[in-house]
Amino acid sequence: MAYTYDDQNIFAKILRGEIPNDTVYESDHALAFRDISPAAPSHVLVIPKGPYVSMDHFTQEASDAELIGFMRAIGEVCRLEGVSEKGFRAIANTGEHGVQEVPHLHIHIIGGRPLGRMLSPAT
Ligand code: AMP
Repeated sequence: MAYTYDDQNIFAKILRGEIPNDTVYESDHALAFRDISPAAPSHVLVIPKGPYVSMDHFTQEASDAELIGFMRAIGEVCRLEGVSEKGFRAIANTGEHGVQEVPHLHIHIIGGRPLGRMLSPAT
């Protein structure tokens, strides 16, 4: 599948500094900031700095350095947020069925309380 990146999406604007964010962590390849509408005591979004729509897009087109840098950032954020020990949930809402609102790859790191089961059984 070919992807077209919309550079007017809200996370692209955050990366360009056009919109403020509450930064938790930043590296050469990733930015992590607090979700504006937190679902738990800790709710951070980790995004690659490159223009990637989704995990599919990222894993097809990103360099090894970008892939490694992004994964390292996710681990670092979990440690900074203090959720590594008790646990957390990492979610990448993707596409229509995944109900992805912002078309720039982002991993939600959610923790700080018991989160319950991931999904309800299919009906
Ligand atoms: P989704 O694309 O469905 O995975 O969700 C996008 C997430 O981005 C939601 O949890 C929003 O609360 C969050 N969000 C939207 N705008 C901002 C913003 N300006 N700063 C931080 N988080 C945001």
